[in-house]
Amino acid sequence: MDLSMSSTDIIETEARHTSGVYAKQPLAFVRGEGATLWDAGGQAYLDCSSGHGVANLGHAHPKVAAAIAAQAARLVTLFETFPNDQRAALMSRLTALTPGLERVFFCNSGTETVEAAVKFARLSTGRSGIIAAMRGFHGRTLGALSATWNKKYREPFEPLVPGFSHVPYNQVEALEKAVTEETAALILEPVQGEGGVYPAEAGYLEAAQAICAQRGALLIMDEVQTGFGRTGKMFGYQHSGITPDLLCCAKSLAGGLPMGAVLLGPKVQNLVPGAHGSTFGGNPLACAAALAALEVMTTEDLPGQAAEKGAYLLAKLKAIASPHIREVRGLGLMIGIELKQKAAPYLKALQERQIIALNAGMTVIRLLPPLVITYPQLDTAAAALAAVLTGDAAEEN
Ligand SMILES: *Cc1c(COP(=O)(O)O)cnc(C)c1O
Repeated sequence: MDLSMSSTDIIETEARHTSGVYAKQPLAFVRGEGATLWDAGGQAYLDCSSGHGVANLGHAHPKVAAAIAAQAARLVTLFETFPNDQRAALMSRLTALTPGLERVFFCNSGTETVEAAVKFARLSTGRSGIIAAMRGFHGRTLGALSATWNKKYREPFEPLVPGFSHVPYNQVEALEKAVTEETAALILEPVQGEGGVYPAEAGYLEAAQAICAQRGALLIMDEVQTGFGRTGKMFGYQHSGITPDLLCCAKSLAGGLPMGAVLLGPKVQNLVPGAHGSTFGGNPLACAAALAALEVMTTEDLPGQAAEKGAYLLAKLKAIASPHIREVRGLGLMIGIELKQKAAPYLKALQERQIIALNAGMTVIRLLPPLVITYPQLDTAAAALAAVLTGDAAEEN
């Protein structure tokens, strides 16, 4: 549908009707292709955010678009009590990527995967304790929010769900003390995303798995952001030697359509009919989109591309000599530039140079470009970052 609305029309209409929970940018995008977004006036922008880590395949991937169109004309909705060809194929395809995790629960968003994982862990163990990490982010519905660390997200909504506690990330001794015979599960991100782009240190996930196994607790990996090639492997945990008991994925799973999936290992038990469910979960439209997306991820080796391009971009960013940078870190195409001051003015300066990037907390610039971003586009992004972090723009801030 071509609505022919001007940028101003779009921006003012949204400003009038928004709930208020989003800090709206003064930019209206109407079209995308690969790592490029076009605003309503036809100006191109380089997307280094992927819609918060969703568009790993880039925008408007033709294979995903074709799969959605074909399935939309065939069957959009079917409750999971009835098996379906697209869903069955997706179940085989997805579980083939995660040896040891043979079963899957489908839902529609990241936060729903965490809700399901927490319920499944409590049901499997008969225990209620859930341990999460400081700086961790797991979503905003009340259960997932109880696992999320940031006070700003949590405090206005208390009381939250009882039984949740937090430990410092990357500290094995803290896990030794915190995980007990009352713990149902430990939930961790393999690279903390919203919390500031902090990768797990070597050996941390292995220690976490061993401690959980010893105490009879389950290990939940929240790979909503790190999954599907983002970190240079299909899943972030695959950089380590572990297999989690539950694996949460969403964001880029269905090539941009809303979809979540929790993959389940053998210790997840007692999932009987009626124990949990979702009206839209596993709908044939999202399954067809996910099948096409997974096909592209494997045939185009997006994890391999993320590993190479991530190393290339990381090296370029580390070479920027700016007094404002504290540290550059990341894994694959998930990169954080921690500043000594607020990130917001630099994000604005980047936007003025037609680059869309994200923050992670107050002081980290976070880059999550589509994994199909080209090398010339990576050069453009790195040059713009160098300019805003070393040039006049940096002084004005
Ligand atoms: C984005 C995110 C979520 C929440 O996903 P939604 O789809 O926004 O509910 C949960 N965990 C992690 C690690 C995320 O990055």
